[in-house]
Amino acid sequence: MEQDDTKLQFDPNGNLRHLLSLKNLDSSLLTELLDEAEGFLTAPGALPTRSRSLAGRTVGNLFFEPSTRTRASFDLAGRRLGADVLNLDVNTSSRKKGESILDTIYTLEAMQVDIMVIRDASDGVPAYIARHVEDHVSILNAGESDVSHPTQGLLDLLTIRQHNADFKNMAVAIVGDIQHSRVAMSASQALQTMGIGELRLISPPALAPDADKFPGATIVDNITDGFRDADVVMALRIQRERIGNLDGIPGIDEYFANYGVSHESMKLAKPDAIVMHPGPMNRGIEIEGALADSPRSVITKQVTNGVAVRMAVLDRIGKVMSTR
Ligand code: ASP
Repeated sequence: MEQDDTKLQFDPNGNLRHLLSLKNLDSSLLTELLDEAEGFLTAPGALPTRSRSLAGRTVGNLFFEPSTRTRASFDLAGRRLGADVLNLDVNTSSRKKGESILDTIYTLEAMQVDIMVIRDASDGVPAYIARHVEDHVSILNAGESDVSHPTQGLLDLLTIRQHNADFKNMAVAIVGDIQHSRVAMSASQALQTMGIGELRLISPPALAPDADKFPGATIVDNITDGFRDADVVMALRIQRERIGNLDGIPGIDEYFANYGVSHESMKLAKPDAIVMHPGPMNRGIEIEGALADSPRSVITKQVTNGVAVRMAVLDRIGKVMSTR
């Protein structure tokens, strides 16, 4: 993300207008968004929070890559704030017929869609669209190639903060296909901004990240160094759809034995360490099914937090929109 893309995220009054990346968002803004998200959470079994802050607005979900949690949670978040929500089915959309992405965007603008939530397999698409939309439209990045997934980063940060808010004295271990993971990228950016004590990125050598993209992180190829006394362990899926050549990537059994997050490997971490996964999970590959279903796992909490975080982002963007 270039510097001018960071500026692009804010309106002339310094308010968040587009959410494209967490890179260069300051800790006070991240904290405000997490606090707002907390305010949308309700007790288990209670009715979800609703408001009318987006009443009259239209949110368009444009997912040009598969999604379950992110799309469903943006849909629910928009509806719970009173917006009309349009879910564009990519299989039937004109983009498949060769229409350019901007033509699709201009069509939705003409239908008075105010907030467009975009997932795309190519780098730079959300920022490109943000540069071309009319002043009243906001763009939210819902997953950009291997580059950015800002609302996932926020929900991960919120889930970690609920476990332990003392970021400076914590160790977070992220294990898996770091090289191709936008989740690792956004979580790392958010954690570094919050002053995380230690951020460890663990992967087989073939899936190791470019160190320049993760300043301040410790990159290791084994869980013994990576998980030791960690407060948080986050497992990631191998992003097969982004890998041209699978040579050098261990087979399933070897991968699970060396990089799997399991009751056994979690013995290296702190006794109260939590286990995270953004989903979709591959049980028996990057995570042991029984661990994912155990009390140590906060995976469903991440999902709940995902709706709250998306409500917080939509609410804030909607409020700024109504002042324009
Ligand atoms: N759902 C996350 C993403 O969209 C993680 C994954 O797909 O592995 O990046």
